[in-house]
Amino acid sequence: MERLPASIHQLDTMHLGRAEIICCYLIRGSVNILIDPGPTVVLPALAEALATHGLTFADIGAIMLTHIHLDHGGAAGTLLARYPQMTLYVHERAVPHLVDPSKLINSATRIYGEQMDVLWGEFLAVPAERIVSLNGGEPLHIGDQHFTVIAAPGHAIHHLIYIHAATRVAFVGDMAGIRMPGYRYVRPATPPPDIDLEAWDETLQTLRHHHPTAMCLTHYGAVFDSEAHLQALHAANWRWAELVRSWMVAGIDVAEQLRLLTAQATADMGAEATELGISAYQKGASITMSLQGLTRYWSKRLPPTP
Ligand SMILES: [Zn+2]
Repeated sequence: MERLPASIHQLDTMHLGRAEIICCYLIRGSVNILIDPGPTVVLPALAEALATHGLTFADIGAIMLTHIHLDHGGAAGTLLARYPQMTLYVHERAVPHLVDPSKLINSATRIYGEQMDVLWGEFLAVPAERIVSLNGGEPLHIGDQHFTVIAAPGHAIHHLIYIHAATRVAFVGDMAGIRMPGYRYVRPATPPPDIDLEAWDETLQTLRHHHPTAMCLTHYGAVFDSEAHLQALHAANWRWAELVRSWMVAGIDVAEQLRLLTAQATADMGAEATELGISAYQKGASITMSLQGLTRYWSKRLPPTP
């Protein structure tokens, strides 16, 4: 069976008590690295997962974020506040939202309301001097580990992909969509506010050219059939996008669009659409959010309705 190189580990953050929803990655080296620690509510479970490797947060020198959506980077500020040895690596465009997260917290609160604390927990500001900002294209060295950094717009404008140079393992965040362990189905993750399908296509092409030996997804785990997976995602992104566009043009209301897209998602899953499968994928990326993102994408591109 294919598996990750010995220095790279999946840590299950047990989000809301459920296994295999949000994956954090540990890279062991002269500096130990966590990629996408998840939201603040998972920190106790993440500490337990680290302990199975004989580590504590005090042994972690670097936090790398693929992007700052709460399910990926929500814990960054809390970790940096508690552990002075940690440095944060993130896209330059995300830095203002980490230094002053008020805008990000406000828009998330509009979406999640009362559920904010339960789903994600606190989101603390990060002092600018603790952040290394990245643009993509630059080589990145953290201790004895080397990475190629790829600017990866599509899911979010500030998304990065990190390729571990020694192993060509790619840390893709949500840019390779959602695929749960043991499933073949690849689901789009297209939340607001800044999904960009054309940019997404270009990012996938760039990723392909690096021939990753594995892609490490946040939702959930490593996949090894990168080429087939990326082709499936590309097709799924555009299939959903075209459906939503056609529904918008036809003037179908939002509740009905959600019903149709949910039915489409179940149909796309085929035999994998078990109760367990459907709920796992829904927790990885909600269909409601993906519909909102696609609606927003098209509302900027379609001619206004008369
Ligand atoms: Zn995510």
